[in-house]
Amino acid sequence: METTKRNPRVSAAKPATEARGETYYPGPSAIDLAAFPPKERWDDWVELDSRAWPKRVERRYMLVPTTCFNCESACGLLAYVDKESLEIRKFEGNPEHPGSRGRLCAKGPATLNQVYDPHRILHPLKRSAGRGEGKWQRVSWDEALDDIAGRIRRAIQEDRRNEVVYHVGRPGEDGYTERVLAAWGLDGHNSHTNICSSNGRAGYHYWMGLDRPSPDYANADVIVLISAHLESGHYFNPHAQRIIEAKKRGAKIIVFDVRLSNTATHADYWVSPYPGTEPAILLAIARHLIHHRLYDREFVRRWWNWLEYMRVKHPDREPTFESFEHELARLYESYTFEFAAEESGIDAKTIAELADVVSRARTRLATHSWRSAAAGNLGGWQVSRTLFLLNALLGAIGTEGGTHPNVANKFVPRPIHVPAHPQVWNDLNWPAEYPLAMNEMSMLLPHLLKDGRGRLEVYFSRVYNPVWTNPDGFTWIEALTDETLVGLHVALTPTWSETAYFADYVLPMGLASERHDLHSYETHDAQWLGFRQPVLRAARERLGQPAPADTREINPGEVWEENEFWIELSWRIDPDGTMGIRRYFESKKSPGTKLAVDEYYGFLFENSIPGLPERAAKEGLKPLEYMRRYGSFEVKRKIAALHEEDVPASELDDVRVDALGRVYTKTAKPAGANIVPLPTPDPDAEGRRLVGIEIDGQILRGFPTPSGRLEFYSSTLDRWGWPEYALPTYIRSHIHPQRLEPGQMALVPTFRLPVQIHTRSANAKWLDEIAHTNPLWMHSQDAARLGVATGELVRVETEIGYFVIKAWVTEGIRPGVVACSHHMGRWKLDPHRHGQRQMMATVALTREGKRFALRRKAGVEPHDSADADTRRIWWTDAGVHQNVAFPVHPDPISGMHCWHQAVRVRRAEAGDSYGDVSVDVEKAHEVYRRWLEITRPAARVSPDGTRRPYWLLRPLKPSREAYRLPVAGASP
Ligand code: SF4
Repeated sequence: METTKRNPRVSAAKPATEARGETYYPGPSAIDLAAFPPKERWDDWVELDSRAWPKRVERRYMLVPTTCFNCESACGLLAYVDKESLEIRKFEGNPEHPGSRGRLCAKGPATLNQVYDPHRILHPLKRSAGRGEGKWQRVSWDEALDDIAGRIRRAIQEDRRNEVVYHVGRPGEDGYTERVLAAWGLDGHNSHTNICSSNGRAGYHYWMGLDRPSPDYANADVIVLISAHLESGHYFNPHAQRIIEAKKRGAKIIVFDVRLSNTATHADYWVSPYPGTEPAILLAIARHLIHHRLYDREFVRRWWNWLEYMRVKHPDREPTFESFEHELARLYESYTFEFAAEESGIDAKTIAELADVVSRARTRLATHSWRSAAAGNLGGWQVSRTLFLLNALLGAIGTEGGTHPNVANKFVPRPIHVPAHPQVWNDLNWPAEYPLAMNEMSMLLPHLLKDGRGRLEVYFSRVYNPVWTNPDGFTWIEALTDETLVGLHVALTPTWSETAYFADYVLPMGLASERHDLHSYETHDAQWLGFRQPVLRAARERLGQPAPADTREINPGEVWEENEFWIELSWRIDPDGTMGIRRYFESKKSPGTKLAVDEYYGFLFENSIPGLPERAAKEGLKPLEYMRRYGSFEVKRKIAALHEEDVPASELDDVRVDALGRVYTKTAKPAGANIVPLPTPDPDAEGRRLVGIEIDGQILRGFPTPSGRLEFYSSTLDRWGWPEYALPTYIRSHIHPQRLEPGQMALVPTFRLPVQIHTRSANAKWLDEIAHTNPLWMHSQDAARLGVATGELVRVETEIGYFVIKAWVTEGIRPGVVACSHHMGRWKLDPHRHGQRQMMATVALTREGKRFALRRKAGVEPHDSADADTRRIWWTDAGVHQNVAFPVHPDPISGMHCWHQAVRVRRAEAGDSYGDVSVDVEKAHEVYRRWLEITRPAARVSPDGTRRPYWLLRPLKPSREAYRLPVAGASP
């Protein structure tokens, strides 16, 4: 049996919290970390000052929790606030945080670099010359707010609501800004999700009505990761630590990755298939389970919508389970190990071994797919659909060691105000060609604007950098510099970005220790809340000082937080309350006055979080004080299978059960419960709502799908124009070998680097020193064929242009495939101002007709600044901006950008320079049109005259009426 060694410096007595069944310190962590500062001493913690060595100089700290804002995981940070100077000296892990349990990845402590970054934006700026010319002047917050509010007010009053769009990269919070937009009556939410996870989500959503998995890694026997999860995947640090716990217990780890990632080096099986063929392997494993009757028959009988499938697709057959089993075997008969081997290039014997390992997991199979293969390929949403098929076959859903739906491990509290659903539909975000898109079609925005489908009066970009992050960045520049298309661009950002250069206002927003946010993520089998807060505000409160009027008083320069910014902006849009907006931003305690963040969070913590008021009271604290002191709260641990919950009798009234076992009732509560996934809210003809599923005489909660069950057969895909993909299947990718032209290779451009995170981490010097380049991974066989050695320049030609990059020759990638990380290639136009000088090269941006180009003028250099370390910069590289040379490839169903590229790689030409990029935006627009042609628009396929199936998730859902397709000839 595995034993845990304790830190010998601390007492071996069982800590009090452990005795109570809790896993945290005081003393050594009950997990396996050394001692943390006990929370009882967070007001006065003493450490020796390492810089004073060899003298022993004591420093006294107040330890204040917040959460990391460098990736989505929201790990708990503890800010070490110097009690003498009230400066933050370092960030470490918060052992009270149930998700991260005191651990951090490199990006967490590097928050310190971001806070003290000498190049960060500290004051509101307004452009003082043409958009994109790089000339800025300081303005007051009042001037910026009045201008922006006035434009939004006019757009709303003149019924131009769709001209206001908020475009977010990393939200870092749970729904606050969606509610702001709903309060304004707009369908103006736009996200980055269709360049990130729409495909991953779609595969899960069609199965269970929920778009994220929550694997219980720590208790799994077999873990299948279609990603580099241990180093950089979704919920990276909280997941990685639990995967390693399982590995220590003896769990088998299977990693699918075209590269030998750090994750793959920890796997029992590293599977490197040809990109896009992952579903062929997964279906071969599924066939093995079906063929040998290794699946959980009882689970499949109870929970799959097999009856619906048989009734709709095989009405001539007896709809028995045995008849379905017969059909199931027939459906997957062709997915042999040999077929999968032929497609993927993975040996049939290896696939057979994988199938055997998976089959032995039974209900302890934890699986995860998010970006990676799903994000790369046309039809990539079938990667997660076929992966989850394995869970669905083994009954490893909602089980210990299995995979849960995300709502089981997430808690979303009800806020103080809940505005109604907006009454409008924004076709710029949700164009009619993509009725089944998982998220907004944001990558198409500049093309839709160029096509004359609308204009924007006010466009907010927030923690988002589409010029650099998205494919086709030059088309973004084209649109953003055209004031007839974009009237006002407001960039809400803590740091300079390629997109902020093309803004009218750049407004400085707080970092992880300078703002309030609330979040809850599915990191493991529990529900928790994390509280991000301005740490100096909390520190001053502990010292008995009064709360500031707003966060600008305590943040550096005039840096603000978004919560307060949106409240203030909303008041200025509707100053007298006559537009019906202001009421959502007013105090409840003192109506007619502005809502303050203390009341907002205080209300929420007091009224919406079971157990928190009682827990706080035990320590003599109010709930808000408790959260300010500890930064997180665990609501519940070990969540059972939610779909198996009984529907209580109190919810059953005038019940009707249909032929598929769906139970409708007049008293069903609408969505809103925190731990129960309610089925679709579609009412029946008599106004009853679906409340659950009758199985073997019991009424159970089920899944929030149209059938209430796991949808092996998706009636939605069938009825909305895609019957051929209604079952889990394999779609050949746009970069499948049969689709490549002679001389082309597949480029995998999707992998992350463990210590960087898109735009946000460039202002962290420690991270930049570790990772500052993105060479092209190339197998030695390909390198020999091309006559290229490591470090030599190659030209990578895409459909619309090319980029010039260094080769890195390795055995750690599949032959015939090249790969490049998307975390690099940051650039700035001005060598000395407006940008990071440790991670952005200085470039010339030129345009001749429809051809745009970047050419590097200078790399990274040592320089003088307020931080002496900038004189010690030893690296010059900042990588190459590859994404800008890709056209958009929206999957016609999920809407996801299919990132992989068919490219030609050859030695660089004379005159080529490292970092050169050249792109023809006319060609980019042609590719956009080509992919548009393969869509099946709502007007053609909608079975009920609506724009989109109402049950599908949307981040900001409009009213039901807004879903109706406009009738031809009717006035809008
Ligand atoms: S995984 Fe790393 S970057 Fe992400 S929240 Fe945790 S510490 Fe921050």
